[in-house]
Amino acid sequence: MLVFVKDKTVDRNSQDKDIKSGLTFPSGCVYSDAMKFQSIRGVNDILPGEIEAVQRLEEAARSVFESFGFSEIRIPIFEVTELFARGIGATTDIVEKEMYTFDDRDGKKITLRPEGTAPVVRAYIEHQLNLKAPVTKLYYLGPMFRHERPQAGRFRQFYQIGVEALGTDRPTMDVEVLAMLMAVFQNVGVTEVRLEINSLGDAACRPHYRKTLKAYFKTHLAQFCEDCQRRYETNPMRILDCKKEGCRAVAAKAPSPLDHLCAECLAHFQQVKDGLNRLKIPFVVNEHLVRGLDYYTRTAFEITTTKLGAQNAVAAGGRYDGLVEELGGPPTPGIGFAMGVERIASLMEGIETPRPDVFFALLGEEAVRQMLPVIVRLRGHGVRVEMDYSGGGLKKQMGLADKLGARYTLMVGENELKSGKAILRDMATKAQEEILLTTLPDPLMKIIRS
Ligand code: ATP
Ligand code: MG
Repeated sequence: MLVFVKDKTVDRNSQDKDIKSGLTFPSGCVYSDAMKFQSIRGVNDILPGEIEAVQRLEEAARSVFESFGFSEIRIPIFEVTELFARGIGATTDIVEKEMYTFDDRDGKKITLRPEGTAPVVRAYIEHQLNLKAPVTKLYYLGPMFRHERPQAGRFRQFYQIGVEALGTDRPTMDVEVLAMLMAVFQNVGVTEVRLEINSLGDAACRPHYRKTLKAYFKTHLAQFCEDCQRRYETNPMRILDCKKEGCRAVAAKAPSPLDHLCAECLAHFQQVKDGLNRLKIPFVVNEHLVRGLDYYTRTAFEITTTKLGAQNAVAAGGRYDGLVEELGGPPTPGIGFAMGVERIASLMEGIETPRPDVFFALLGEEAVRQMLPVIVRLRGHGVRVEMDYSGGGLKKQMGLADKLGARYTLMVGENELKSGKAILRDMATKAQEEILLTTLPDPLMKIIRS
């Protein structure tokens, strides 16, 4: 028997009261009998009709990534909270406000992954992947969780496809990673995108830039939003990324990190730009582009589209040469990106929902009995076969075949069983032909494949 208690101190009487008004589970949530369940705000079902674009994007990403020598890694959905606090940075929006964190039953703090880089780097260190190859190229796909304000294109569970290349700081890798990202967009026909790049410097030159930036911001403190007042102390570069008007006005005139790069970072950035030009990949330099994660160094980039309104970022990434070491691994440079699956899928056009190759309109139990082995064999050859399960008449079944968008319908009823010939109808041209039942499924397969 289930016992419903709000917490362990509740006495039996108040427990009963709770049970009458609804069921109170140990977690404190109450369910009434008449309750209709709904998904949590910002957490979506992706239904047939919507999933096809997502699948197509995933297929495109896999095939492009694999041609660049990247392999899939499946990382856990949750990790210890400390990994993200360290890997993303304690003063970032994600860690400060957006993480789904809770106590495990044994008291450990765990967090639903808000992004993939920290877990991939954790896995890289844990499994010593650095010993297996000089450069480790990984990709992942799956859901991420952030407690954001839900709106169009911004969800609390959303999907990302991402890559991480660990083990080289050569600008060639930056160029390759960007070329690969653009190739995925090309592959799925999303071409109205804009690549913006910037360089954030490294451990040598970034502190200097940070100081200059802080000195500039100091004279504008009063104009900042509450968050940026705080960021001024904790993470001043993040002010460049604030979407609030007052902060943006100040940020627009802020000193550029590009004017503060050391010679190595400057040369690195130049080589990235040269490489992109050689590959004829269009880009613009946005000197105020920063990334939400703390450990980004040098190349930072974002892909935006003009077609999505406010939530216009469809992919973003950058180099993070200090992250592996920060998470306890050997000093190892890295670069990666993450693509926002829902936003990209919503830009994809001409995605068709799969439709049956052939619909079997079967009238009577005997027709079903005789045709079932044929259906199974067709499906075994990858032919999409649908049939009716309601036992309706021919008209109803033809209506269903139409609704499903079947290319052909094969009709078998009592008469056809008697004559030994089924009728095949081309649903577009309405042309009909007879097929000998004993020869099935071969002629049908030939027609469908032609
Ligand atoms: P934004 O500026 O839109 O908040 P971000 O900088 O937080 O983006 P990243 O952490 O770089 O985003 O994630 C990469 C991509 O994932 C984004 O460009 C976006 O397409 C997608 N993304 C991020 N957060 C969400 C979300 N809450 N819902 C849907 N997609 C998201
Ligand atoms: Mg965000």
